[in-house]
Amino acid sequence: MIPRESILEALSRYDESDIRIATICSHSSLQIFHGARLEGFGTIGISLRRNKPYYESFPKASPEIILEVESYQDILKRDFQERLISENALIIPHGSFVEYVGGKNILEYFRVPMFGNRLTLYWEGDRSRQRRWLEEAGVKTPRQYRHPSEIDRLVIVKLHGAKGGAGYFKASSPKEFNEKLKELRSKGLIDPEAEVAIEEFIPGVRYYPHLFISPLGDPNLPELSYGRMELLGIDRRLEVIDEIYRGLPEIIEDYLDYTVTGNIPVVIREKFIVDILGIAARVASASRRLFNPGLIGPFCLEMVYHPKKGFTVFEVSARIVAGTNLYPMGSPYSTYYYDEPMSMGRRIAREVKNALKLGRLKDLIY
Ligand code: AMP
Repeated sequence: MIPRESILEALSRYDESDIRIATICSHSSLQIFHGARLEGFGTIGISLRRNKPYYESFPKASPEIILEVESYQDILKRDFQERLISENALIIPHGSFVEYVGGKNILEYFRVPMFGNRLTLYWEGDRSRQRRWLEEAGVKTPRQYRHPSEIDRLVIVKLHGAKGGAGYFKASSPKEFNEKLKELRSKGLIDPEAEVAIEEFIPGVRYYPHLFISPLGDPNLPELSYGRMELLGIDRRLEVIDEIYRGLPEIIEDYLDYTVTGNIPVVIREKFIVDILGIAARVASASRRLFNPGLIGPFCLEMVYHPKKGFTVFEVSARIVAGTNLYPMGSPYSTYYYDEPMSMGRRIAREVKNALKLGRLKDLIY
């Protein structure tokens, strides 16, 4: 793992008056570039040649410079990294950045300063470590099953390496689990070697709150051990399975598909904001205990509300999530923190700007 000191050493050579916000042209990059431009930063997009004209076509969100790559793996090449460093690039890692470059590759080979704490890649990238983190936070999580023979209630079976949520399935007994797995394998729908995670299926209403923690600010919630927390929006993912009533169960491949296809804006019953912020603060405080300096910047909790059990967290995404694309000009919640439109992309750029003013940029980078 590249030590933080060596990333900070690269950062120390940056011209702080000419920082550029950089990311791969995908996922939430238009929002990131748009926000960076509003805050007065230069921007760099990393794009496949075929995508470039499309990213150039948005007058308010296209990046100032586009660096073309043949494949996203080119980003790891020494020359390419040096080019980014010479442009004073601060990388904003979004979901596709991590997926295309690879979490492990970023930890081992990517020397360009990144916004946030890259140790989160290590902690969220592995289900059992992520579980330890959520347990440390003391939040409710779905029960995990080590072996299919233990299945005693409705479970959701998640496949490692499945694209998004494709190929996930439900089962209520060891017998049903084995039958469904066999069927999927015989149809060639899953890799026979794919590792399987079995988790209690939590019925209820899903919420995906978008949070931001600023280590530059003082704790503003009782459960916080550091930083200032903001709730900047909420969405619900529109997954293929959500449209099951439209006839999809006829096709088994689709019936088993939890892949995200879009996002729907959500406002939550106001009294639940207390629960969400409390849980988010505990997850952040636990992150600092486990991997100092802990979460920095945007993250998302994937939660289910059950009328009897309250909120269960089934996943943390420790970076900007695509659901924030709903709110390029702010959300029903950002309004309560800012007098101006504040997207998550802009909030990241604002944090960089604030840190530069305080001479604390290094506190946001690893
Ligand atoms: P994930 O790959 O963990 O983000 O899960 C993809 C989707 O599967 C989620 O957005 C939920 O719709 C569903 N899901 C995941 N875990 C659970 C669970 N424990 N109970 C119910 N639904 C789940």
